[in-house]
Amino acid sequence: MARTCTVCTLPARDRVDSELAGGESPAAIARRHRLSEDALRRHKSNHLSPALAKVAVERFGTDSARQAFDSVVDRVESLVGRLESLLTLAEEKGALTGGSNVAREIRQSLELIARLRGELDERPTFTTVNVLTTPEFAQAVAAILGATERYPDARIAIADALDAIDALPEGDPSS
Ligand SMILES: [Zn+2]
Repeated sequence: MARTCTVCTLPARDRVDSELAGGESPAAIARRHRLSEDALRRHKSNHLSPALAKVAVERFGTDSARQAFDSVVDRVESLVGRLESLLTLAEEKGALTGGSNVAREIRQSLELIARLRGELDERPTFTTVNVLTTPEFAQAVAAILGATERYPDARIAIADALDAIDALPEGDPSS
């Protein structure tokens, strides 16, 4: 007999999905909704799609959209923090080409964040914000991964962080 997903059948499923889509940790969400963390992780990997971020915005309005968005921005900002550490390292090692690539990606990521923030602020009733699926976000992800090509450890850490919020583009970004 096929197992029923306990999360899919919840009355609060949409809220749970929007929290997952916003990048909140499954452990915290599981506690809040008194769910098994295993069930929630299974649901996240099998039943949650990036499109749900958009659905969540439509149902719950811009407060939830803002939370999901802020969560994405927090993560991009933390990636920028890591890139800045890489830049320092590159400078210390005299790897000037790598350093200037990283510096350029940092600047572009910050510009992206500023632009996305501006757009959201100018349109308080905008109801279809799905940052994760915008071409700009995919470009930023590709740029960040590209810039860290020569730093395999950072690349893996960044890819993991993006994967955790379902923000990795389709396909293998390293190819
Ligand atoms: Zn499910």
